[in-house]
Amino acid sequence: MDERDLEQRLAGIRHLGLDLDGTIYRDGVVFEFTKTFLARLDKLGIGYTYITNNSSQSTADYCVKLKRIGLPTPASQVLTSGRVTIDWLAANYPDARALNVLGTRSLRDEFREAGYSIVEKSEHGDPDVVVVAFDTEISYSRLCTTAYWIAKGRPYVATHPDLVCPTDLETVLVDCGALCACLESVTGRRPDEVPGKPNPCMLDPILARHDIEPSQLAIVGDRLYTDMEMASRTGALGVLVLTGEATREEAQKSPLPDLIVENIDSLGDMLSKAKRSS
Ligand SMILES: [Mg+2]
Repeated sequence: MDERDLEQRLAGIRHLGLDLDGTIYRDGVVFEFTKTFLARLDKLGIGYTYITNNSSQSTADYCVKLKRIGLPTPASQVLTSGRVTIDWLAANYPDARALNVLGTRSLRDEFREAGYSIVEKSEHGDPDVVVVAFDTEISYSRLCTTAYWIAKGRPYVATHPDLVCPTDLETVLVDCGALCACLESVTGRRPDEVPGKPNPCMLDPILARHDIEPSQLAIVGDRLYTDMEMASRTGALGVLVLTGEATREEAQKSPLPDLIVENIDSLGDMLSKAKRSS
């Protein structure tokens, strides 16, 4: 995209889908420019929704966390892969009532609040759908029960494909995609659907809620194969920030990002300039 086309695209942006870790904070520490950037979006009349694949925390957990780090946000502006999976189930399995959820207690609560009952043991009857998430409270017996129902052929959805969750701690955070790989090795099945990033359906709730076209949406994130892949698949503007995972070298080799910026502060400058001259 040449400079003129890019400025036109930026001038038409009405909403941002903002990744969290590596984009607005890193390891829970908010970047010094994040608050100014968000205030600038308000001034420019650009809305935003935080988008995260991390389904170990519910929407309510994220609202608490964001408030704690000084970024109070209503639930309507937070989209987790867990929440998107609830929307996906409502659209694709409207008659489903009972779920087996390999997920944290708070994620299971979010499914309950959405009207589902949670089936934990095989003697309680078969679930309509099996959901696998980033279960940081996993237990061997719950893993085995989930494997049983997947092997039995129940519809099977995973919240997101990430194999590991990034951390600077001296450990490996085994994520949802890796749990699915484990389950595949014992059942021979992969998930029927994975609604989280980079699946374009992750953006459906944002497009519907704000009545916008993909071209009026920019996806801002630090990962090429989730954030930028999703932007590319949907026709949203893909803005890669270099404050997280992707390096400048990797970014320049990839055809995915429409725009590469040092950080969201630089994006704020570009949006202001584009809106001024439009
Ligand atoms: Mg990220």
